[in-house]
Amino acid sequence: MEYKVSENIKNTYSAVTAQSDVKKALEFAKEDEKNDIEQLIEMTLIEAPTFHEHKRAQYMAARYKELGLENVTIDKDLVVSGVRKGVGGGPTVVVDGHMDTVFPEGTVKEVRREGDYLYAPGVGDDTAALAMELGILRALNAGGVKTKGDIIFTATPREEGIGMLGGMRDFMNGHHEEVDCLVAIDGGRMSGITYQATGMRTVEVTFHGKDGHAAGMFGKISNSLNAAARAVAKIAEIRVPEDPWTIFCVSNFHAGNDAGIHAIAGTTVIKYNIRSNSEEELAKLDDEIGRCIQEACDEEQARWGKDAITWERKYLATAPAGTQDVECSLCQAMYHVCEEYDTDPQFGFGGCTNASYGIAHGIPSICIGRQFVPRGMNIGSTAHQLNENMYIKDYYKCVQMGMLVTLMMTGTPETPSAL
Ligand SMILES: [Zn+2]
Repeated sequence: MEYKVSENIKNTYSAVTAQSDVKKALEFAKEDEKNDIEQLIEMTLIEAPTFHEHKRAQYMAARYKELGLENVTIDKDLVVSGVRKGVGGGPTVVVDGHMDTVFPEGTVKEVRREGDYLYAPGVGDDTAALAMELGILRALNAGGVKTKGDIIFTATPREEGIGMLGGMRDFMNGHHEEVDCLVAIDGGRMSGITYQATGMRTVEVTFHGKDGHAAGMFGKISNSLNAAARAVAKIAEIRVPEDPWTIFCVSNFHAGNDAGIHAIAGTTVIKYNIRSNSEEELAKLDDEIGRCIQEACDEEQARWGKDAITWERKYLATAPAGTQDVECSLCQAMYHVCEEYDTDPQFGFGGCTNASYGIAHGIPSICIGRQFVPRGMNIGSTAHQLNENMYIKDYYKCVQMGMLVTLMMTGTPETPSAL
């Protein structure tokens, strides 16, 4: 893809990086790297499984306060936030990292350092984003950097798994009117930029019929398991578009038990997961699945007679779909920052990140990474694995890059916002 960065974005970058206060902040960030790493290790040891982020929330709120943020709160949804006030007249930018990790309490015993890597479950995803936030704050403070717009720092709970971006959803529900831009930090390499939102629904469907003896009730009642199986067979035949990218998966099928090995199962439960980069396609697919299920129940009833199989659908988790112009100022700004740092910028295809809830509210939003990987180097992803590692060489550059893209959006008293 040929991607062009406008003169305005290039000029904004040059002007921001030429400011003496910003230069001071950038230098400080480099010297401060050992503190970033120390703090990253310290935070990794504060475990925070999804729905159990309280200790980390306390930690982040205390650091936000120490670093001079105003209105530091842990709200009722456990979202930690604090404001670095601007001088006024610029866009408000949210810088976010999520607090939760996918590992149960007791998983993290130590953080091991080997060469340029740290090893521990959760050390990268997304603890390294929280460390980046604090590094950015220290650097801004050290440089005495003033911004036009406010920067709201957030540490959000419930991003992972069934939490399904819940912390950012709650925060945006309450604050989207005051937010102009969102930079979520939650990717692998700094050069990977997520600008789309992949919508997702994780759904449980329960089929209700009657229990009965396999032989005694044969021919007299319908079978919920048959109905579910008919439904799954129909769902398997659904066609979805490649563009906008859309997928579906029946992921669970539960019916009967060992005691009922010679019985007709009265209840059957299936689960499915659907995803699309288009909210419209997602809704269409979900309707289609509903039709398959109803048809299957009708056919099962027609096959055996009287008893209807009824069904109900329960949404276990949902995330919104959406997209924005890949040539928006925020996308261009991050792209340009990556080029200036000689790492290879790439826009990801879709994504289910905290940026999704900015995009859903029509707010320019991206998700960026937390490891500085130079052009040409390859590191695989170990996120969500017990052997998770975090490449920490030149980590300070992540802090610098996150800070620069934020300043390009807030604007400074000397440089107008590029947003
Ligand atoms: Zn994450």
